[in-house]
Parts: sequence; C-alpha cells; structure tokens
Amino acid sequence: MSNHFDMMAIGAGSGGLSAVKRAAEYGKHTVIIENARLGGTCVNVGCVPKKITWYASNIAQIPNEARGYGFDISLNNFDWSKLVATRKKYIRSINTWYTSYLAESSIEHISGTGKFIDAHTIDVNGKIYTADHIVISTGGYPTVPDFPGKEHVITSDDFFTLREQPGRIAIVGAGYIAVELAGLLNGLGSEVSLLLRKEHFLSSFDAMLRETLMEEMLNAGVNIMPRTSIETIEKQLDGTFRMKCANGVTLEGYDAVLYAVGRTPNTSLLNLDAAGVKTDKHGYITTDYFQNTSVKRIYAVGDVTGRVQLTPVAVAAARRLADRLFNNMPDRHLDYYNIPTVIFSHPPIGTIGLTEGQARKEYGTAVKIYQTRFTAMYHAAANTEQRTAMKLVCVGPEERIIGCHIIGMGSDEMLQGFAVAIKMGATKKDFDDCVAIHPTSAEELVTMV
Ligand code: FAD
Ligand code: NDP
Repeated sequence: MSNHFDMMAIGAGSGGLSAVKRAAEYGKHTVIIENARLGGTCVNVGCVPKKITWYASNIAQIPNEARGYGFDISLNNFDWSKLVATRKKYIRSINTWYTSYLAESSIEHISGTGKFIDAHTIDVNGKIYTADHIVISTGGYPTVPDFPGKEHVITSDDFFTLREQPGRIAIVGAGYIAVELAGLLNGLGSEVSLLLRKEHFLSSFDAMLRETLMEEMLNAGVNIMPRTSIETIEKQLDGTFRMKCANGVTLEGYDAVLYAVGRTPNTSLLNLDAAGVKTDKHGYITTDYFQNTSVKRIYAVGDVTGRVQLTPVAVAAARRLADRLFNNMPDRHLDYYNIPTVIFSHPPIGTIGLTEGQARKEYGTAVKIYQTRFTAMYHAAANTEQRTAMKLVCVGPEERIIGCHIIGMGSDEMLQGFAVAIKMGATKKDFDDCVAIHPTSAEELVTMV
C-alpha cells in the first residue's frame, strides 16, 4: 500500500465514508482511518439501533390498538435480549457490507487512531501517511456533566449495550435523544421519568410540536419532571440509584440514570495544533460553507463541525466536498438552510424551516399561520385517541411556505416529499393546487384553510 493518497478521511462514520466513496468514484486514491467500527455513530450507536427499538416499541402498542378493530390480541412476552440480538445482527451486516464495499472500491481502510504530525501528515499506530486532501470526520460522543456520582450515569452509547431492560429509568435531557429514548422505553413497558432542567423539552422546535408531544407523552404515562436538575447520584445497596435534585426533591429506586444532554466533538486525539486547525470555544472544528477549515487542504464534515448533527447532513456535506475537489464543481457546497428532520418520538415529529416564533421575529405581520389538529382515522377507529397536529408557516402576499411542522402517526414518512416542495420555494397556493390523497393524514397539509 502506498503511503500517499489523494484524499484521506479520519473517522469512518456517515461523513468520512461518504467523502472517500465519492472521491473513489472519481477515480481518486483514498484511505479511511477508523479506531472503532465502520459506520460510526449512526450505524452502531445511533439512528439504526434506535430506529429498530422504536419499531419494537410501536409493535408493543398493537394489541391495544387492534382491540377497536375487533381483534383480541394479548402481548404474552417481550424478550429484550432477542431485540438486542436482532439489532446486533442487523448492525453487523452493515459493518460487513462496509468492509466489502471499501475493498471492492479500492478504498484503503486503516484501523487505528489518526493524529496529525503536520498539515499533510497523519500518524496511525506509529506509521506515517500523507494526503493531498485530509477530511476530519471524527464525529462526537455523549456529554456527561461533572457532578458527584457521574460515574453511575449511562449514555445513549451504553443504552445500546444494556443486557436487561431497565424496569425504572430516569432520563435527563431535553433534546432528540431524551424524548426518543423516553418514548420508546415507555412504550416497551419501562417506568420512565424524564427530567428537564427547564419547563419544556425541544426548546428550539415549534411550540405546537413540543406542547403536543408533552401532552401525548404524559397521556402515555411518561413521568415528565420539569425544573429538576440532579446534583448528586448515589448507588444504593440494592443496586438502584438515588438522586438529590437542586429543587430539594430526592428520587430513588431507579435501575438506571441516562444522560442525553448533547454531544462533545471528538478532537482530543487528533493533535490539531500540529496542523494548526482551529476550533471554536466548544471544541468544534470551525469551517466555512465549503467545509474548509482554517488550514488549506484540510476539511471537516459532520458532527465534529457543530453544525446540524444529522446523518444526511454529514453525508451531503461530504459528497459535495468530493464533488468540489475532484469533479470540477468549484461552487458545490451544502446549503444548511431548510434541512428537514424527524424526531422518532411517540408520536413522531417531522419538521422543516422556521418555527412560528422565529418567523414572527424575522417577518413580523407578514407571517400567516395555517394549522390543524385531529385524531387520525387509525387511532379514531382504535379509540386510542392519539393526536396529530400540523402547521404551515407562510410569509408575504404569495404565502411562501417557510416552515412545516407535523406531529402524529406517519409524520416521519410524510415530511420528505413536502420538504422537496418547500426547498423549491412552494407557496400555499401550490399546496392547495395539488389534489389531496384520500383518506390520509397527509392530505390535511394540502387542504388547510
Ligand atoms: P460519526 O458517525 O460519529 O463518525 C465518526 C467516527 O470517527 C467514529 O466511528 C469514531 O470512532 C471515529 N473517530 C473519532 N476520532 C477518531 C480518530 N482520531 N481516528 C480514527 N477514528 C476516529 N441522525 C439522523 O439523521 N437520524 C437519526 O435518527 C439519528 N438518530 C441518532 C440517535 C442517536 C442515539 C445518536 C447519538 C445520534 C443520532 N443521529 C441521527 C445523529 C447521527 O448519528 C450523526 O449526526 C452522524 O452519525 C454524524 O456522522 P459523522 O460522520 O459526523 O460522525
Ligand atoms: P440535543 O442537542 O438535541 O439536546 C440536548 C438538550 O439537553 C439541550 O438542548 C438542553 O436543553 C438539555 N441539556 C443540556 N445540558 C443539560 C444538563 N446539564 N441537564 C439537563 N439538561 C441539559 O442533544 P442530544 O444529546 O439529544 O442529541 C445530540 C444530537 O444528535 C441532536 O442534536 C441531533 O442533532 C442528533 N440526533 C438526531 C436524531 C434524529 O435525527 N432523530 C436522534 C438523536 C440524536 P435545555 O437547554 O432546553 O434544557
């Protein structure tokens, strides 16, 4: 193996793999360095195992929902270890697929930790490699704040290695992971307390989404505890945890305490100073919209840049970078505006663009809101009363749609197509002019008055 490459990526997650794959398609000599499993966070401890668990949690609701349809189904047993084995097998198949893909595509794969010697040179396991273009795609890891008892805390990484389902769990956090894990564990029968340091969760999302989700989670039995910050955690003799909180409350009898309070960029092992790559005050690598770092021919993509931390964002930024470098597309870059996203909560959320609050701040009285709230036919017939809510945020006389927010059954699959239209600049009239598909929940998005 030659030690010099056209492109090298450090970190074989969504971003790094996409960069070298696209560069290899252009005939470039590429290498990827990874110190854990191929696929990174998304495949191993993120989107993939989370989504499988989310499906399992949805299945657990079926007996109850089926009753309204005349079925008498009972849930006899749920085998956590079988679910874990299924998840593991599925992930292994992706890991294996990546190994063969890299080999078939002549992309070199080096196992080990990459560390800068200088701006063109990387050390892995004591061996030296150089590249014309180096992509930093090292992602991040879950943050756990410092406090007495922090050693007892688990994170989303640990969640996927749990051999037994926690009977009683406290989840701390107010973002994607906290609401997703709280919802799916509750659905699978764990007793879940969700501890928020503020009054609400999902603070950067549209108020309609977070209020509806809060209602639905409370109805489903999640114990949501606003303004509850843990100060100390102690392990009791029976193996459970006891937490003292800043508001004077003591919580006890929990089998696990899971922190989901954001992530920290993986940069400490990179020796960035040797290359002169700059980071911001949170440690994220600073990049411009072309993914250039502060050093020529060194780029960063994905979570390590601190931009929108989603798999398709890392993938899109990386592919565009390779297009720019190797396919004569000098302006090619990712547009970070209007990125659709789904929260796999119970029920799921699909959202794109500005919230109503952000739109009113930016456009004042030029904003017009359309919204609706209903029980989807599936739940109405099942008598399970789960709500769906939708909002379109429009601006100006042409009513350009600048925000679309959906919560309810199917919103995870519903958003992608609408996101294309919104990204293309669709107006409310464009939506109205599209004939509805009946009977669906999605039709409400083109029939709102
Ligand atoms: P990563 O995928 O984190 O890859 C970085 C890789 O670099 C890792 O494999 C790491 O081992 C390696 N590495 C680090 N340092 C070095 C080094 N010095 N040398 C060699 N290798 C190194 N996003 C979605 O879009 N949808 C979802 O449903 C979703 N669910 C998620 C659920 C959870 C629980 C979590 C934690 C995240 C989820 N995400 C989801 C976010 C998504 O996983 C990330 O945005 C995405 O994986 C980021 O990709 P990346 O390439 O930037 O980094
Ligand atoms: P998030 O950034 O989504 O949310 C973390 C939240 O936790 C903060 O916004 C804050 O909310 C709260 N928080 C921060 N510190 C503390 C603390 N000390 N105590 C209590 N609460 C605290 O982080 P996550 O870890 O949930 O997820 C990381 C990222 O991974 C996400 O941003 C997302 O990009 C990605 N992801 C995507 C998924 C998807 O696409 N479906 C699923 C899972 C993750 P507040 O200030 O309101 O208290």
